[in-house]
Amino acid sequence: MKTLQNLIGAAWENPRGTQFLEVVDPATEESAARFPAGSTEDVDRAVQAADRAHPGWAALPVAERVARISAWADVVAEHAAELAELECREMGKPVGTGRAFIDGAVAGLRGAAAEALDYPFEQSVERADGSRTRLLRHPLGVAAVITPWNFPVAMVLATLGPLLAAGNTVVVKPSERSPLSTARLFELLDLPAGVVNLVLGDSRAGAPLAEHEKVQMVHFTGSVGVGRTIGANAGRQLHRTVLELGGKDPVVVDADSDPRATAEAVAFGAFVNTGQICTSMERIYVHRDIAEEFVDTLVTMAEGFSVGDGRHEGTVLGPLVDERQRKLVHSHVVDAVERGATVRTGGAVPEGRGFFYPATVLTDVDESMLVMTEETFGPIAPVVVVDSFEEGLERASRSRFGLAATVFTHDPGHAAAAARIPAGVTWINEWQGGGPEGVYEPARDSGLGATGAHAAYDAATRPASVHIPAP
Ligand code: NAD
Repeated sequence: MKTLQNLIGAAWENPRGTQFLEVVDPATEESAARFPAGSTEDVDRAVQAADRAHPGWAALPVAERVARISAWADVVAEHAAELAELECREMGKPVGTGRAFIDGAVAGLRGAAAEALDYPFEQSVERADGSRTRLLRHPLGVAAVITPWNFPVAMVLATLGPLLAAGNTVVVKPSERSPLSTARLFELLDLPAGVVNLVLGDSRAGAPLAEHEKVQMVHFTGSVGVGRTIGANAGRQLHRTVLELGGKDPVVVDADSDPRATAEAVAFGAFVNTGQICTSMERIYVHRDIAEEFVDTLVTMAEGFSVGDGRHEGTVLGPLVDERQRKLVHSHVVDAVERGATVRTGGAVPEGRGFFYPATVLTDVDESMLVMTEETFGPIAPVVVVDSFEEGLERASRSRFGLAATVFTHDPGHAAAAARIPAGVTWINEWQGGGPEGVYEPARDSGLGATGAHAAYDAATRPASVHIPAP
């Protein structure tokens, strides 16, 4: 079985730590690779390599850093199919879906790096008396990047673009559930030694990395629970943090929406990637006037998705990432049923190999149920019927999460009111839309720190002022 290595400085290395973990293919339950579990010593060596590389990388002209990152984007684009296959093997995502997201992430990497060319790394303000202030944005130094398993390639590309283009060096710790594609991504990299380092493992690598004294910033994407721990530790160390955490995203469907077309869009938003997207639609509030046809269509869509191995042509729903995730998803369904929910389709763990779970539609749900309050991260669509758009908006806002929200309406007043939902991003009559200028910070427990466009550069740099008196 293949054993993955860490990338430290210029070299791929066996770990100093002696413990190993295995990647299990969630469709076949077979071992796909072995990799280091992580150790403080491996983390320290990686951070030291990043720290040594930082002055040279930061001294390069911005345009050269951007050109080097764009060259990486070109190579990743050439290997997109291979990377999508690896994602499928490690976490089950259908190859076609993976490919589409990787292509989008490559374009995002190019765009985010190019933002550096417009970013005001240095400005000068002259006053009437002839005195002057230089306004500088310095790179922070070494950034720790800790990523989840649901979009292994896209998460790394989205995070690294601004961090690297701003002149930081990084140590990346991908999820222990999906190390294969990230390791391959870095084999394709051609940057100066130590600019990007990779340490594999679970919290045995993540915790010492986030707390390392030479790390200046922690960029964490993952669950609220781990995010809180990282935020608390980073506070003690005075590390800057960006925390991109979980969600329980609402959808409000107004009475004037086409029930069929909207249900088709919601089926996609609730079930794609087997519901394992931070911005999956996890709470659906539909107006009573169109609820029956909406739910019927959602059920038909759910039953029409083909479930299976993501390598097979036509598979829409791959397996969940592992048995732990499947148990969590099913526990939410069982809890809902015990509290009075009706299973309209799905809701049962299938027999056989692989961590599969069917697209599931629940009705008669309310906020006493886990499926309406905690992140499920599975192919579950709980539907609440509401008597007015206002009621939908009000119930959509009743959550400790605030990542994103979607509103389907043709009423301009209602579309404007949608911004009242506490969320970093709100989509109207679509899901996952928007352009590169979008800037957001998750609301409530869904995270900390703004990102997107110039905000990503603000997070990746430290402002400083130099005051020069009049001559
Ligand atoms: P997780 O929090 O369990 O793990 C995320 C990463 O943190 C992994 O690399 C893990 O090894 C590491 N880690 C675990 N304990 C740690 C510790 N004590 N110190 C440092 N690192 C530690 O999350 P997950 O299950 O991998 O991912 C799913 C979660 O990620 C969901 O909640 C999802 O909503 C969220 N997510 C958010 C976004 C976003 O942009 N907001 C995007 C994707 C996923």
